[in-house]
Amino acid sequence: MQKEVTIFWFRRDLRLQDNAALYYALKENTNVLPIFIFDTDILHKLDDKQDARVTFLHQTISHLQHQLQQIGTTLLVFNTIPLNAFKYLINTYKISTVYTNKDYEGYALQRDHAVEALLQEHTIILKKYKDHVIFEENEVLKDDGLPYTVFTPYSRKWKAKLTNYFAKSYPTEQYFDHFFTHATSGLPTLNQMGFEENTSIDFPSTTANEEIISKYTQQRDFPGINSTSKLGIHLRFGTISVRKLLQTALQLNETFVNELIWRDFYHTITYQFKHITQGKAFRKEYDLIAWRNNEEEFKAWCDGKTGYPIVDAGMRELNTTGFMHNRVRMVVASFLCKHLLIDWRWGEAYFAQKLLDFDFAANNGGWQWAAGSGCDAAPYFRVFNPTLQTQKFDKDLKYIKKWVPEINSLKYPKPIVVHEDARKRCLATYAAVLKKS
Ligand code: FAD
Repeated sequence: MQKEVTIFWFRRDLRLQDNAALYYALKENTNVLPIFIFDTDILHKLDDKQDARVTFLHQTISHLQHQLQQIGTTLLVFNTIPLNAFKYLINTYKISTVYTNKDYEGYALQRDHAVEALLQEHTIILKKYKDHVIFEENEVLKDDGLPYTVFTPYSRKWKAKLTNYFAKSYPTEQYFDHFFTHATSGLPTLNQMGFEENTSIDFPSTTANEEIISKYTQQRDFPGINSTSKLGIHLRFGTISVRKLLQTALQLNETFVNELIWRDFYHTITYQFKHITQGKAFRKEYDLIAWRNNEEEFKAWCDGKTGYPIVDAGMRELNTTGFMHNRVRMVVASFLCKHLLIDWRWGEAYFAQKLLDFDFAANNGGWQWAAGSGCDAAPYFRVFNPTLQTQKFDKDLKYIKKWVPEINSLKYPKPIVVHEDARKRCLATYAAVLKKS
């Protein structure tokens, strides 16, 4: 006879503590079978077989499985497409409900739609919860019911709406005895999944460094000091809870709280303005810009060989560590779109391949901000001057010298464009279409 179980499906919430859907699954049921799917639809599209994020994911799942075994259950891990995993589960167990936390990205929405349709055919309910953000979808709207497109008033409303209810933790551990007890299950190896372990990247710790958060307002813009939390990857995969982090931030530093609001803001923009998920500019007139798209210049940018030290330092940091400081992300992105007149979508795709903390909403938001085409973007005629940015934020060249040690030698490339010429060319190119529209 088929065993009766409730499924809990882990996705971007890879932790046992303070996990919204896991809490409800355990509270409302006594036979919760946790599962994770290495989704071959996603993995097969990754060209880099040493992709550090796959190594991180594999380590995280292995750790989660170990934790679950210690409390008497185990994680059932699949390496297939989600529909196949659910067909197997439906054939093997008697299931009435599947619990999961919402994932708001384009592919995830389609995937969930297909899984939900399959479950419905078998009268199984899919219950989805908010866990990844503090406010989602339609929760923070203008008084007239329309979505915000400017950050500052959005953040004001966000703060006005915030009560303890939205930041509270879910005490999953109260119900850990409600997991389904079953035999140990295996984990596919990275090799079996077609990948190799990436041993060159050190993944940031999951601990929120309170000293960094306390000094965030004064230090966050200086890439030469260890001044930001590096928690992006953990927020991305849910290896930390955004509610817990918010509780810490509320006590320590308002500027840091604002960053978490930016994160919600971009998620809400992605939800409200679906055209941006199809590769379109937020402001449609920006799609008329005549990008130069010079492939050699793009390669020089990717490789950190533009002859602009702050740009090259940033790209080399990204290529080596999977991380880039936010101030430098803004500078390199602006340089690509404005100095080189290369379509921001090329840069967006490059970041998507390389960033450990890659997240569609924040990445698209950051790129469209830099290109001027986004909601609440910098005006197009404001072109970052890399030299002034260096003087302001890395004046003793501590960051630059770390990543571009040959800066003063003949080995270092000459600038691929002259700043002032590139600025004028950018303004003329943008103005040509923006004046007409
Ligand atoms: P901290 O400075 O310590 O901030 C804490 C957290 O707040 C971050 O981890 C992040 O979740 C959130 N946050 C901070 N700034 C922003 C922001 N401007 N927008 C949205 N969320 C923010 N962030 C991503 O998480 N994923 C991306 O793919 C991404 N791509 C970007 C691309 C460009 C061109 C730009 C300009 C910015 C991008 N950002 C992205 C935003 C920001 O640069 C990173 O969140 C931040 O640098 C990550 O470092 P940290 O974890 O030390 O952040």
